[in-house]
Amino acid sequence: MTSTSMVLMVCLAGTVAHAGQAQYKLAVYLLDRTNDRYVNYALAETLASRMFAVIGVSLEWAKGKAVAKPSQSPIIIEMVTRTPPKLMPGSLGYAVTCEGSHITVFLDRIEEMRAPSNVLAHVMVHEITHLLQGIGRHSATGVMKEMWTAGDFGGMRLRPLSFTSVDIDLIYAGLRQSRRPKLPANGENEDPPCLRGVTAGAPEEAHLAGPVR
Ligand SMILES: [Zn+2]
Repeated sequence: MTSTSMVLMVCLAGTVAHAGQAQYKLAVYLLDRTNDRYVNYALAETLASRMFAVIGVSLEWAKGKAVAKPSQSPIIIEMVTRTPPKLMPGSLGYAVTCEGSHITVFLDRIEEMRAPSNVLAHVMVHEITHLLQGIGRHSATGVMKEMWTAGDFGGMRLRPLSFTSVDIDLIYAGLRQSRRPKLPANGENEDPPCLRGVTAGAPEEAHLAGPVR
């Protein structure tokens, strides 16, 4: 047995829990207008892909302007810098779950942290999960915690934060329903997730980074 095949076996072992479920593929467009030099996007994308691959979801990364496909809604991640200090203080990014496709990442806040590419991967995974689940729910542990502590940031540098079983069930429930924008153009007949106490279209999601140094 070659070392390559052994590695493959290890990877497959991680997918056993969802071996009977379909392999979902998601197109993810990363829009970067910042020319950031502190974050390694390739590293962040690879890690985010690994974190989703464990649960049977494949991310297909693309750059540039998203091309609309009638059969699916791509996920669009926009990196922004020069974030005003008073805008969602402590937050590293947010997803507009009602709309279903768009994520904003406050890159300037991430690039100041240790292992910024690693943190970026976790922020993207967290926000993509919100879009897949279609809700703003958080878990007590793992990548879907509402607020990562210094211990979480330290832990994610050793190995990726994991999904809880409920996180995974909700991701698959959302994927089975097919991802589509949940907010009609005329603003009528919103689905329940849009009525969760937030103004439609407003950021529903925030991450308080906590101490990182
Ligand atoms: Zn969140």
